[in-house]
Amino acid sequence: MQKSRRTLVFLLVCSLAAVPLYSSQRPPTEAEKTAEKVLQQAIIIDTHADTPQMMLDHGYDLAQPDSPFMVSIPKMRQGHLGAEFFSIWVDVTWPKQDLIHRALDLIDAVYEQVGRHSDVLGMATTADEIVRLRLQGKFAILMGIEGGHIIQDDLRALDIYYRLGVRYMTLTHTANTDWADSSGDQPRWNGLTDLGKQVVERMNRLGMMVDISHVSDKTFYDTLAVAKAPVIASHSSCRALCNAPRNMTDDMIRALAKNGGVMDINFYSGFLSQAYSDAHEKIEKQVDAELAAARARYASQGKQLPYLEELKIEQPLLKDLPVPSYTAIADHIDHAVKVGGAEHVGLGSDFDGIDSAPRGMEDVSKIPDLVRELARRGYSEEDLKKILGGNLLRVMRQVERVGREMRSPK
Ligand SMILES: [Zn+2]
Ligand SMILES: [Zn+2]
Repeated sequence: MQKSRRTLVFLLVCSLAAVPLYSSQRPPTEAEKTAEKVLQQAIIIDTHADTPQMMLDHGYDLAQPDSPFMVSIPKMRQGHLGAEFFSIWVDVTWPKQDLIHRALDLIDAVYEQVGRHSDVLGMATTADEIVRLRLQGKFAILMGIEGGHIIQDDLRALDIYYRLGVRYMTLTHTANTDWADSSGDQPRWNGLTDLGKQVVERMNRLGMMVDISHVSDKTFYDTLAVAKAPVIASHSSCRALCNAPRNMTDDMIRALAKNGGVMDINFYSGFLSQAYSDAHEKIEKQVDAELAAARARYASQGKQLPYLEELKIEQPLLKDLPVPSYTAIADHIDHAVKVGGAEHVGLGSDFDGIDSAPRGMEDVSKIPDLVRELARRGYSEEDLKKILGGNLLRVMRQVERVGREMRSPK
């Protein structure tokens, strides 16, 4: 008995050691060749960057050569990026009556940048337009609304955002909306309310992607139960590797794959690394207290705390935390692929919305290193192209088709 158990353990250890996370490792030169080919051919799509607030609040110009931000035109060029979804994010503490106004200002700031740099940037609202811009040698710019609170409980706001070019909405941010529970809040509605279900229905009808990043687990499952088209997680990582309530469990990854959707891996250190997340938890109270004090100072002058100020307050408190290597992103991709399949994974950096990016992935210019790492791990050219953007194009096309079908008279 004892002996056979030992043999079993031995076999188990051997089998674990023999099976790398994804598949066989490639020799370095072959991996380099695969990566270079993929970098030339793939349309790399990042589904989440919070850069518009920098444009609006700090007069940030995307062409700035020494940009202090994570996304800029020179960095997108170095990063071989094909398309960026800029997030129209408004903090949940923003005065409710001003949410739409703020979103319109952010949308305007994106259009202003695209207009100013129309030689290299183009607005895209369909998958075909992303491909067309790529053929023209331009970066495709798209937009997603981050947080269902930004419709101010008015379904018509969705129609307006859609007309303005917005192609996804994240159902919640860090707090519950009046119709959906967030992973960052106490459950209030037990998932989606009737109005929440109407929101999903309206988005499907419009052909706008439903984004389940940030929502509570129950909201996620409720959304899948009513969604008529594949959904996305625009910036979510794996909970099995890093236990953040905002990351996706294996069961959720499987359910999303069944729905035909795509989860785009978030690059934030605290969603990738358990060690970073644990260390962060220890200083969280202090960070929150300092941010709350700063917010109160700004509020007393009738202003909101700008994101750059927030970063300045946080940086000294974060400086000793164990920042993971960029290979942690590849670990999450490996895991998501293993659980859900290579057809259901993508990239959602969260650049310019995170206060810590992994070492070696400080900004969008570093994406080729991730592609090289994945090539070293043995991903095929075909799978790499899907993960880097092909899956998102597929979902976008399906969402567009379902919208057309729902709108067409029976
Ligand atoms: Zn964001
Ligand atoms: Zn977010």
